[in-house]
Amino acid sequence: MGIFSDFGKRFQDDWCKNCKAQMYPMTERLYFMPMTVGHYQEQKDPVYYFNKLRPINDVSQIPTGFYACRIKAYRCNGCGQRIAVVKPFLQVRDSVKEEIAVVFKNGELDALLGLQGW
Ligand SMILES: [Zn+2]
Repeated sequence: MGIFSDFGKRFQDDWCKNCKAQMYPMTERLYFMPMTVGHYQEQKDPVYYFNKLRPINDVSQIPTGFYACRIKAYRCNGCGQRIAVVKPFLQVRDSVKEEIAVVFKNGELDALLGLQGW
């Protein structure tokens, strides 16, 4: 199904790039993203996520035609590496269009995810 699903398969969330150990999920949260259908732009600056995201409880709270994202945080038991994976998606009727995941490796989103002190 085109370029987006290919990228999704290649990206292994729970596999440490440093030491190849399995990473363990610490938290997962869902956020509303103020971007509309056809206007998605990848955001690599953590400031965007702090300023623009709004936490929501489930996908029914996403306004029609707007993006949302799941952010999952992982920790590696092998080397201690932590990552936060942002997966933006757009619900279109019955299907979901997933964008390429954005990964933060230096704790940039810890405060957003409530992970200070880990
Ligand atoms: Zn590791």
